[in-house]
Amino acid sequence: ASLILWLRRDLRLTDSPMLTEAARTGRPLIPLFILDPETEGLGAAPKWRLGLGIGAFAEALEALGARLILRRGTALDVLQDLIAETGADAVWWHRLYDRAAVARDTGVKAALKAQGIGARSFAGHLLFEPWEVETGSGGFYRVYTPFWKALRDRHVPAPLPAPKRLTAPATWPASDSLDAWHMGAAMQRGAAVVARHIHVGEAKALDRLDRFIDRCVDAYADARDLPAVDGTSGLSENLTYGEIGPRTIWSAGWRALHGGAKGAETFLKELVWREFAYHLMHHTPHITHANWKPEWDAFPWQGDSKAAEYWRRGMTGEPFVDAGMREMYVTGRMHNRARMIVASYLTKHLMTHWKLGLDWFAECLVDWDPASNAMGWQWASGSGPDSAPFFRIFNPATQVEKFDPKAEYRHRFIAELSRNPGPDALSFFDAVPKSWALDPARPYPKPLVDLAEGRKTALAAYSARNS
Ligand code: FAD
Repeated sequence: ASLILWLRRDLRLTDSPMLTEAARTGRPLIPLFILDPETEGLGAAPKWRLGLGIGAFAEALEALGARLILRRGTALDVLQDLIAETGADAVWWHRLYDRAAVARDTGVKAALKAQGIGARSFAGHLLFEPWEVETGSGGFYRVYTPFWKALRDRHVPAPLPAPKRLTAPATWPASDSLDAWHMGAAMQRGAAVVARHIHVGEAKALDRLDRFIDRCVDAYADARDLPAVDGTSGLSENLTYGEIGPRTIWSAGWRALHGGAKGAETFLKELVWREFAYHLMHHTPHITHANWKPEWDAFPWQGDSKAAEYWRRGMTGEPFVDAGMREMYVTGRMHNRARMIVASYLTKHLMTHWKLGLDWFAECLVDWDPASNAMGWQWASGSGPDSAPFFRIFNPATQVEKFDPKAEYRHRFIAELSRNPGPDALSFFDAVPKSWALDPARPYPKPLVDLAEGRKTALAAYSARNS
């Protein structure tokens, strides 16, 4: 009987334990992607980008004589229909760790097993399963540094090569057409702009890793903090859809470290931040939607407001903040330094609830990841594990002096600051909704809040909460 491979966030051929094992069985394989309600509900940019990833993966499968079958509906219904049509007797998948996926997958597994269908889940999205890493006294790590120390010398299995061949079923079941799913519908004008900056599919992801290891990893420890420098791997975009596996990145980083590359350890440490975010999300699922530290529930966070709308539009008049937001609309991504600054500005200077920022990033980032996004926002606002203390408020004005001393990043993304704005600065105006009515010819806005005032108000609210 054939075997259904339920693809989700593992759109790759290499470093895929499920695919390697499935190819080894020699059985006919039916790769399947389900547009289920969870996937339907993705934000505009990640949904659009996922659609492109599905297209690229389908092509890669075709080169191995296989196909990617596309079906729409709740996961269990689709799987049961396909089992009935094909006589498949097992369904395999790689595990995911966010609340919605865990609830769905647990239900699917139980229902299939009750029908006598083999249901098997594999590890592949992380370096280690969250239950495999424990502190000396048991329990999970709440602080990053000891987590890193526990992992850095552990053996990470080498990434698996791509299978050479996948056995096809005698007849292929019917498939939806990807175009008919309209995965990019909500992206509107942004798609044409962001399309110029993304790297879709496994082949591009592997090239990106090679390029980073050849040219950037040595200087990474310093360059990674400078948003005007192309000094990071850019792989978050591919990792989130599983177009590259974490073991592939780990092993390249490890080889670079042992080859004497100076920045390699810092790079491995960043990859372990992703791991930390996932382990936290597994052990404390509320991290994605509620203050990780419940004492923050009493903080007078503001809801949506005019000020928050200026933040969303990249029109706060605070250049480092606006450059970050505009980078997101133009490239689909935002430099980590800018993410920290825009998040600190929203949650502290504007005292707006971090949930508003988290939701907006989930709408706009092509590298949106449920675990890293939640950890990042809660870290920036002070409500999360191992957070920046609330009273350490990033000052965007002094941050620019340190991290964008020549104003290259600000000029790259803010047209109003240059006499001859470049293509990225101008394409911001083409990427955002027309209804925002933004115009590069208008003067750059005055600062929305006085930084010293904003800081004082936030600190006063913080000490009131603590008294
Ligand atoms: P590199 O510097 O090349 O790092 C390599 C890999 O390590 C990354 O691809 C990523 O998987 C991981 N990594 C690096 N920094 C972090 C970090 N701080 N936290 C977790 N993992 C990290 N990352 C996402 O992938 N998706 C998100 O939705 C996301 N939202 C964020 C929101 C906020 C408020 C903040 C402060 C950070 C967020 N991050 C998120 C983390 C980080 O900004 C990105 O992972 C990083 O900028 C990706 O760029 P890169 O691939 O070039 O990273």
